[in-house]
Amino acid sequence: MSRINYFLAMASIAAGIIIAVLFASASPGAHQAQPQKPVPNEQISADAQQGAPLSADTGERLSSSPATGREGNRPQQIGRDSGIAETDPGEAVRRSHPADDHTASETARQMTESRPAPQPFSSAHESLMEEKDAPGGEADRPAVPPRKEPKIAYLTFDDGPSGSTPKILDILRRYNVKATFFVIGNTTEEGKAMYKKIVEEGHALGNHTFSHNYGKIYSSVEAFRADLQKLDDLLYETVGIRPDIIRFPGGSNIHLSRRSGGRTMMKNITREMANRGFQYFDWNVSSTDAAAPVQDLEAIVTSVAANSRNKDRIIVLMHDNTRKTTTVEALPRVIDKLRADGYSFDVLTKNSFTFQFLKP
Ligand SMILES: [Zn+2]
Repeated sequence: MSRINYFLAMASIAAGIIIAVLFASASPGAHQAQPQKPVPNEQISADAQQGAPLSADTGERLSSSPATGREGNRPQQIGRDSGIAETDPGEAVRRSHPADDHTASETARQMTESRPAPQPFSSAHESLMEEKDAPGGEADRPAVPPRKEPKIAYLTFDDGPSGSTPKILDILRRYNVKATFFVIGNTTEEGKAMYKKIVEEGHALGNHTFSHNYGKIYSSVEAFRADLQKLDDLLYETVGIRPDIIRFPGGSNIHLSRRSGGRTMMKNITREMANRGFQYFDWNVSSTDAAAPVQDLEAIVTSVAANSRNKDRIIVLMHDNTRKTTTVEALPRVIDKLRADGYSFDVLTKNSFTFQFLKP
């Protein structure tokens, strides 16, 4: 081999190696061979959150956001711990709406009212990330946590007196709990005896109108005032008390037909009652004992527990009705659960905490 040939051969081998190296570094296959970059934590948590089981709150958020294929595939666990098993909130509202029992629509409304306002999914996601990325962390928190308000539960029983009243009173006495009874007109001897017993045992009496007849009481401001006055007189004759606390049958935001005056009528009535010195009370915790003629006992207990979460003052709606046997059966457990959650019990008064769906 001549020197020239040897030189050419060496040069072509070197050129081949250079081309091979250049080609290898430029080809996409070279990147695929590299180890994968770690996925940032935020991205993992965001994905995990999207696939996570839904709480009642996120379920609400979900149902109000536009449906996408991905969201549609999420597991439906809405309302599992609120006692409204396997039903979406809208469904529960629709189902209970046509019921003639006012309390069913009360409950449906309560279910809507008690939920926190839905947040857009993206903003919740952002706030999660902010919290995680915020500098400082533990060091920025105040050394002494802010003083918490004492937790108070106001148990309320509507529509009595009834055959259940003596049983409810027995339980309340045994557990040393005072409650508020929003009573209606009952002129029987048993009924009058119950008004007396409620007062004697230290509970509060509230006026829930004499007739509880929507068509009658909500036909005009004057009709409402007259019906309320009729019970006021009966209570004064019986127990010497004219209650200054009231609860509107169906709640202050009751849906009225246009013939009855609609929302304007409720506004006029609430204003008139406030001007006359009455305070009215709706509720921020429903026991859901009116969602069925005889509600499931577990549903009552779990609804009160779920609906009272994160609230320092709760007005709990229950019913004093002979047929509602599970309300009575659930009561000891409701009391035990609320006590375990740190609540003490008190009666409603004109100046106590109130919760109103519609302001006067
Ligand atoms: Zn009622």
